[in-house]
Amino acid sequence: MIAFEWYRYMLGYYLRSRVLGIKKPILAGLKLTHNCNLKCEHCPFWQNRDKSLSFLGAKQCMNELYEQGVRILIIEGGEPFLWKDGEYSLKDIVTEAKKLFFSVGVTTNGTFPIDVEADIIWVSIDGLEETHNQIRGESFDQIIANVSTSTHLKIYAHITINSLNYEEIPSIVEFIANKVKGITIQFHYPYNGGTDKLFLEWDKREKVLDNLIQLKRKGLPIANSEACLKALKKNSWTCHPFMIASVEPDGKITQGCYVKNRGIVSCVNCGFSAHTEISLAYATVIGAMKVGTQTFLSHKPKSNGGLQTSILKEKAKV
Ligand code: SF4
Repeated sequence: MIAFEWYRYMLGYYLRSRVLGIKKPILAGLKLTHNCNLKCEHCPFWQNRDKSLSFLGAKQCMNELYEQGVRILIIEGGEPFLWKDGEYSLKDIVTEAKKLFFSVGVTTNGTFPIDVEADIIWVSIDGLEETHNQIRGESFDQIIANVSTSTHLKIYAHITINSLNYEEIPSIVEFIANKVKGITIQFHYPYNGGTDKLFLEWDKREKVLDNLIQLKRKGLPIANSEACLKALKKNSWTCHPFMIASVEPDGKITQGCYVKNRGIVSCVNCGFSAHTEISLAYATVIGAMKVGTQTFLSHKPKSNGGLQTSILKEKAKV
């Protein structure tokens, strides 16, 4: 049932956008808080830790996103597992989100037990032990322990590739492959709009992507489509940033690029594979469309009870 509602909604979204020119977001990132227990080298958010959404504020934002057309929600931070509002915790936000959206994801630094019932969890892992700890602070062992002991069925590792870790990407992929369901990558993006010391030069980026394509062909669980990995080599893809919305911890909703209102948008240096993938899917590239359903739909049970069916109808409402 959910597959039917999903495809019906996605087809309607596509036709409204392509034929009628209605450019609404379909996927949103909700930053509950900028607070974080780590101080990652590349991250601008922990440095601005003054704001967090309230529980009611988060519910209002989720309703507004739903009204705008969003059906996939990724809850992020800062570190979302740190978020609290009185008796409410991340678990309550996930419960509320699942009433509205087809798929609810959580991104985390992995230093807390992974015990929320989101549909998918992304854990950031940026290197083997020494490199990861250099970039993100002493956390590698804790993360691996939390990933290994979690009973969650869909944990993905997410690697941000930069000038410090690019040489060990194949080793990270092989190390983490049997501990997670999938692996996604993106490239470090300098929020100053230019380059910085973590920015990876283009010839090195191409080599890393070639390696990843080979590993994927060998059967390692790299979840990005081959089309996406190829397109990132020279950024030979057309971005459709209107498909994304972002919510700040003060409740402000922005439609467009992840960087909009957070830094300088410089498409030539882009390495945001999620934007690549969703834009390729919009261009009806089959591999990217498959990634969308595998990431956000494939975990769903094949049948649902009556109550679930009425929720699904609500979710699929145009
Ligand atoms: S920086 Fe990347 S995600 Fe943002 S608008 Fe440009 S190409 Fe799209």
